[in-house]
Amino acid sequence: MVTTTSFNTTKSEEIFTAAQKLMPGGVSSPVRAFKSVGGQPIVFDRVEGAYAWDVDGNKYIDYVGTWGPAICGHAHPEVIKALQAALVKGTSFGAPCVLENVLAEMVIEAVPSIDMVRFVNSGTEACMSILRLMRAFTGRENIIKFEGCYHGHADMFLVKAGSGVATLGLPDSPGVPKSTTKSTLNAPYNDLEAVKALFAANPDSIAGVILEPVVGNSGFITPDAGFLEGLREITKENGALLVFDEVMTGFRISYGGAQAKFGVTPDLTTLGKVIGGGLPVGAYGGRADIMSMVAPAGPMYQAGTLSGNPLAMTAGIKTLELLKKPGTYEQLDRVTKKLADGLRNIAQEAGHDVVGGQISAMFGMFFANSPVHNYDDAKKSDLQKFSRFHRGMLERGIYLAPSQFEAGFTSLAHTEEDIEQTLVAAKEVLSII
Ligand SMILES: *Cc1c(COP(=O)(O)O)cnc(C)c1O
Repeated sequence: MVTTTSFNTTKSEEIFTAAQKLMPGGVSSPVRAFKSVGGQPIVFDRVEGAYAWDVDGNKYIDYVGTWGPAICGHAHPEVIKALQAALVKGTSFGAPCVLENVLAEMVIEAVPSIDMVRFVNSGTEACMSILRLMRAFTGRENIIKFEGCYHGHADMFLVKAGSGVATLGLPDSPGVPKSTTKSTLNAPYNDLEAVKALFAANPDSIAGVILEPVVGNSGFITPDAGFLEGLREITKENGALLVFDEVMTGFRISYGGAQAKFGVTPDLTTLGKVIGGGLPVGAYGGRADIMSMVAPAGPMYQAGTLSGNPLAMTAGIKTLELLKKPGTYEQLDRVTKKLADGLRNIAQEAGHDVVGGQISAMFGMFFANSPVHNYDDAKKSDLQKFSRFHRGMLERGIYLAPSQFEAGFTSLAHTEEDIEQTLVAAKEVLSII
């Protein structure tokens, strides 16, 4: 049995039962509902550092990190202090504010492709805006995305998408007009030939290619050697734009994101998660000539009442300041490697087929018997076994993303001891599932 007797979640169950009458599925975002792993979700009471506490008083080592933003650890004292100081000056201006300049300068300095940036309120908003910009700039309508990549929930991207769409096995969402997705072309990840074929079949009509440069939304999948470089070449040859959706990887796999890590510079980039430091922020940016199309500098309309919000900017600025200190990414890499290698070794010793890896503070492990290069490979993993693993870890105080199709995240607050404790729990669970 995976179950432990001391694990009490009575209050979580009461609250979630009530929530289901109040909100669809009891949640504000689908993956939180534990549908794919079974059992009821845990209701959080507070978070701090590498830890989360639920309403029943159970403590967890948290590897979700509010799905990416908490890279400095939850409720970092310096972020909280900066927010407290910002709060008394008001929660929203709806007018220019110098904090926007500060965060914009930090983003432009860090991310190779970004000469100019526009702040929005979520990754979804960043991706839907960048799609409009790709089309406005090129005058072309088709885009290429990859199966299992998630670019938020805008209509145009809800075709073979990752994250919750993959987790819940939703084919294409009802309510998305066929006319909207007709111009969304899909290719398997890591398949340059498929991309070439799409360009050949749709001459002069493809605005660009958008992808997660390291996939985190169909589990953790890395780009094969030459894949990102190949996309850079193909898009250039065809007069199309290359867009890295770095909402997850930005400031996570290196300070300059995947583009700095792999040395491939796209034309445009979307950001989110980390740059909001736990408050709602997204951003898109890129070459100045392209970004100059955005209103009011240019004709492409995009706006937001709360965009560039002073609290969100403050949390983002402080988070990037903390990340910029020397040695942070080395520390993240060391701790995360210990975790990812440890999990894989323990699983293999216990006789399980697993594959997985890690880049900086992002990791993953599939219960699969062959390497995972794309979403089809990921779907061959043993989802039942993952559910048992997830439950067993949860009951031992380890909070993992409740889906095989999500990457895991560490933070600067995760210590070697946290990792050791996690591996002890994993050893127990992996020996009985
Ligand atoms: C999370 C994510 C999004 C969507 O961001 P939200 O803030 O949830 O709207 C888009 N793209 C990628 C790669 C993501 O990981």
